[in-house]
Amino acid sequence: MKSYRKELWFEVPTRRGFVNITPDVEKCIVESGVKEGLCLVNAMHITASVFINDNESGLHSDFDKWLEGLAPHEPTSQYRHNSAEDNADAHLKRTIMGREVVVAITEGRLDFGPWESIFYGEFDGRRRKRALVKIIGE
Ligand code: ZN
Repeated sequence: MKSYRKELWFEVPTRRGFVNITPDVEKCIVESGVKEGLCLVNAMHITASVFINDNESGLHSDFDKWLEGLAPHEPTSQYRHNSAEDNADAHLKRTIMGREVVVAITEGRLDFGPWESIFYGEFDGRRRKRALVKIIGE
């Protein structure tokens, strides 16, 4: 069995943002040489997510609005976590959007359903953060 590990680094210039990392993950699969297996991608920070959805900018705006409705950043004083920090909302948003995705690899490619893409969701950006890619298979 082959095993492959890589860290993808990001520095989103705004507090919140979504990055399509599908091309990066596809590159990892080529590098891994795995033709049949599984690909895990997880955020390595508790204020960021990795999720799968549509690569459509209107939907991304909808996600941001929806998440701000559930856990607004302001006023930061509404959260007990924010006695020493200001990112309680980012922890909550990450929990809703999820830590990781697992995608099947078939014939050397991501075995996606229609319109699926992989995104890194940043909720407390403006600093260097990363996601882990782990691939196992034959
Ligand atoms: Zn925090």
